Amino acid sequence: MIEPLLKVNNLKKYFPIRKGVLGREHGSVKAVDDVSFYVNEGETLGIVGESGCGKSTTGRMIMRLLDPTEGSIEFEGKDLAKLSNAEMRNARREIQMVFQDPYASLNPRHSIRKILEEPLIVHGLGDAKERSRRVNELLEIVGLSSYHAKRYPHQFSGGQRQRVGIARALMTNPKLIIADEPVSALDVSIQAQVLNLMQDLQKDLKLTYIFIAHDLGVVRHISDRVGVMYLGKMVELAESEQLYNNPLHPYAKGLLSAVPVPDPDFKREQILLTGDIPSPSNPPTGCTFHTRCPFKTDICKTVVPKLVEVEKGHSVACHLYDEQFNNDI
Ligand code: SF4
Repeated sequence: MIEPLLKVNNLKKYFPIRKGVLGREHGSVKAVDDVSFYVNEGETLGIVGESGCGKSTTGRMIMRLLDPTEGSIEFEGKDLAKLSNAEMRNARREIQMVFQDPYASLNPRHSIRKILEEPLIVHGLGDAKERSRRVNELLEIVGLSSYHAKRYPHQFSGGQRQRVGIARALMTNPKLIIADEPVSALDVSIQAQVLNLMQDLQKDLKLTYIFIAHDLGVVRHISDRVGVMYLGKMVELAESEQLYNNPLHPYAKGLLSAVPVPDPDFKREQILLTGDIPSPSNPPTGCTFHTRCPFKTDICKTVVPKLVEVEKGHSVACHLYDEQFNNDI
């Protein structure tokens, strides 16, 4: 059996809440709370959820921009959570990130050439001539031209800037790209172009993606499998088509109700998501979605549902679908 490229096990990130002059710890914000998943080489795992659900924190922990509170992140069999800073610097050649706002993530005072060369310089790769060749090559690969290297970020449109962001992520020839809301800041007409580019690059360069977004419609376009997060937990994980045709978790159904369906004959159960997301510093007991769930029962308020595989490749954390739980009562 082929091992996944990345395995995330029981990952947690708790941010301490400090109060008072002495900064004593008064509880914590459970930004990511016991999340596990894997990503196979060459596939795209989409991670979706509303803002504050922990999806970006998960991506940042995989990059080790944040240290996990608990859990392991195995990349090619090595636990990234245990690597020293020097070892992690090497590992980052293989794992790169594309950010949401390409303007904020590109230094406005640096030329595109300087921005693109930087990852090679940081990792000590190539001499000046080789770096220059690689910059020109990557600009062509992402649909720009070598003459763009002289320009500055403000001289580009949003879509072009995100192409530069993608080129920068590819400079060190990584295996895994974590794309954190890569098209959310772009016009809808440009989003499809950038998504198509990412799909072409994935095929040509055999890339593996974790694609983080709040919009299930965008994630569907690109993902093989999709994980839905709510208040720091993974509540449903399934192959893309399984999730879109047969969502099981009421929260996933609610998110999908907002996605337009191109086929007028396709009828989907509509669930209106009402109420605000509770604070992750004081999450509801039991199923954290029970304060917004139209199907909640008493047990939902006290018992945390486990993520259980209910059909091949399709897992959900909901008492309605937790056969183990139902068999126990
Ligand atoms: Fe709703 Fe209960 Fe399922 Fe949570 S466990 S999603 S509250 S039915």
